[in-house]
Amino acid sequence: MTIDLFDIQCAENRIRPYVPATPLLISHSLSRLFKSDIFLKYETLTSTGAFKLRGAANKLLTLSDNQRKRGVITVSSGNHGRALAYMGHLLGIRVVVCITEIVPSEKVQGLKDFGADVIIEGLNQDQADANARRLAERDNLLFVSPFDDADVIAGQGTIGLELLEAQPDLDCVLVQLSGGGLMSGVAKAIKSQRPDIEVIGISSLHGAAMLESIKAGHIVDVDEKPSIADALPGPIPKDNRYTFPMCSKLVDDHIQVSDEQILGAMDYILQSEKCIVEGGGAAGVAALLNNQERFIGRKTAAILTGNNIGYERVFKLLNPAI
Ligand SMILES: *Cc1c(COP(=O)(O)O)cnc(C)c1O
Repeated sequence: MTIDLFDIQCAENRIRPYVPATPLLISHSLSRLFKSDIFLKYETLTSTGAFKLRGAANKLLTLSDNQRKRGVITVSSGNHGRALAYMGHLLGIRVVVCITEIVPSEKVQGLKDFGADVIIEGLNQDQADANARRLAERDNLLFVSPFDDADVIAGQGTIGLELLEAQPDLDCVLVQLSGGGLMSGVAKAIKSQRPDIEVIGISSLHGAAMLESIKAGHIVDVDEKPSIADALPGPIPKDNRYTFPMCSKLVDDHIQVSDEQILGAMDYILQSEKCIVEGGGAAGVAALLNNQERFIGRKTAAILTGNNIGYERVFKLLNPAI
């Protein structure tokens, strides 16, 4: 099961009124460091602060009238739920979001502010997922996976189209990899047009379910530990249809980053780009900063995937002594 370039191009037309193309800006400090042009894609500048708006918009805009009337339900660590809630509000579609008890409070409030019905239950992602699927059945809602959904993947893939449009001669693109919706879409968009561009998946050091599954050749369970990048670690349901096969086929290589490296990258991005990103959003830059030889002289793009982290939390993380 797969999606093709045309699906992503259709998604781009569909979501454009709601999701303007985000800027791809040169980072002067990274470019000096790597003696090459290094670009950052500011998904922080979507109206919900993360790229998930693309997939959520494409999904809700492709629903039938009947599905729109019934509403949707999802399980999300924050950004996907937030994006669905916002789009649902705009389009008049009911959105129910199931989350675990470990999701940070600022993300819970963000969901409620956008008008979602929030259900907090379960200590890990597997439990929240089971809960959402049960409620979908009971309340006749459409379950929308945060990553394993053809329309969501096509939506996230619009980032790949924008990258090539803005910088056709990139050598390398770094893409955060968790459930793999972002990677499947972006890699498909890029590899269908420019198979020579290296696409590298960036996972957290712990709980990297997709990477471990690709290594094993089948979906495996991983231990879930709290991470500074709460959007990155997490399990992949065994009934995966799209992202495991797509990531297995399309990703050239993988880099893992530790919480310490991510924190360093958050600090670096704040100082050099004057931009606050959440842990997951900094992972690409963390991979760059900790693999300098590999990227010297290569025209590379990394994605600042999201900025949903409270200012106080950032301040405390970056100033532990105060
Ligand atoms: C969802 C998310 C990711 C990972 O995307 P997947 O499609 O699950 O691989 C990375 N960064 C942020 C900020 C996210 O919200």
